[in-house]
Amino acid sequence: MIPSILPTYSRAPLEFVKGEGSWLIEKEGRRFLDFGSGIAVNALGHAHPKLVAALTEQAQNLWHVSNLYNIPQQQRLADLLVENSFADTVFFTNSGTESCELAVKMARKYWYDKGAPERVEIITFSGSFHGRSSAGIAAAGSEKMTKGFGPLLPGFVHLDFGDHEALTAAITEKTAAILIEPVQGEGGIRLVPDHCLQGVRKLCDEHGILLILDEVQCGMGRTGKFFAHEWAGITPDIVMSAKGIGGGFPLGAVLATENAASGMTAGTHGSTYGGNPLGCAVGCAVVEELTSTDLMQNVSERSGELRQGLEGLIAKHPDVFQEVRGTGLMLGLKCGVENLAVVKANYEAEMITVPAADNVIRLLPPLTITSQEVQEALARLDQAASSLS
Ligand SMILES: *Cc1c(COP(=O)(O)O)cnc(C)c1O
Repeated sequence: MIPSILPTYSRAPLEFVKGEGSWLIEKEGRRFLDFGSGIAVNALGHAHPKLVAALTEQAQNLWHVSNLYNIPQQQRLADLLVENSFADTVFFTNSGTESCELAVKMARKYWYDKGAPERVEIITFSGSFHGRSSAGIAAAGSEKMTKGFGPLLPGFVHLDFGDHEALTAAITEKTAAILIEPVQGEGGIRLVPDHCLQGVRKLCDEHGILLILDEVQCGMGRTGKFFAHEWAGITPDIVMSAKGIGGGFPLGAVLATENAASGMTAGTHGSTYGGNPLGCAVGCAVVEELTSTDLMQNVSERSGELRQGLEGLIAKHPDVFQEVRGTGLMLGLKCGVENLAVVKANYEAEMITVPAADNVIRLLPPLTITSQEVQEALARLDQAASSLS
């Protein structure tokens, strides 16, 4: 008999009833150190007092109004994002995959309005993940996500990750945009080196095509800068955001330059919930924290400590851990044994980690993680690895 919840997830037998900072408390009282953050969502940890205050204050005043009216919280969040990024304009969504939908629509509409309606193709890369909507799965293109779901949204060109020559060759008069994650998350914490991102930008400039970055997972301070692409010093045309931007409240955004967004006039896109007062009140508190405190410094320092400790664990357990990848607090450990077995052993050590492709486990702690908690995490990973060797 089918369960009352559609069985699309394979779930661990864990039930959390409370969150406090970097900790998740399970129903029997066990305290788990959270190095998953709901997959890079709880950027400020659990029950951050400023987020709780922002949400409860808004909840007492107004939960929802339609985008038929002005929403001051939305205006404020858009202004904050524009002030702190490359963007001139922002559209709010509720999730990463909705941000993908709009990014694709925006790129195509841009060319349509420029008098080149044949420019519809968007180049994407193997191992990418852009969410589970029809556009999202067509963009990523992997069989695992697309098989059985009928005709896919056409117009995506899939290339091997890291193959710059193939990328150069794939650009035609039908290309609208290149879509890339600066750091692949689901794909196994695969970093696009700065010089490659710069090369992609250069290629886009040469051909006048748009650069869309999927920063749903790697953005919002995860790498130690507000957006990951800032490390490469490049300016994208469109950026997809979600996950960390709401700190746990469902919220997403598409940020764009005035030029890239030029086709999106009144009536061309919309959302009932996107940018609603509750989500935006929380989003403002998240963005204010990320941009006005020394949190980015914390990300860099804790990342250094974590990496150093992880190198030690690789030396100590070479059969279990093989390589550290990633940057900031978006780190991956390539495993020598099955990654799911490592995630399970970590649960037994009362620590949350998240599997990814390429036999990697992801370490995505809250950006507020302390030095002491990093040391505790390393001790728990050590314990888990000892149980596996
Ligand atoms: C999670 C994720 C998405 C999809 O976000 P949802 O909110 O699950 O729709 C898209 N792109 C990347 C890079 C992601 O990590």
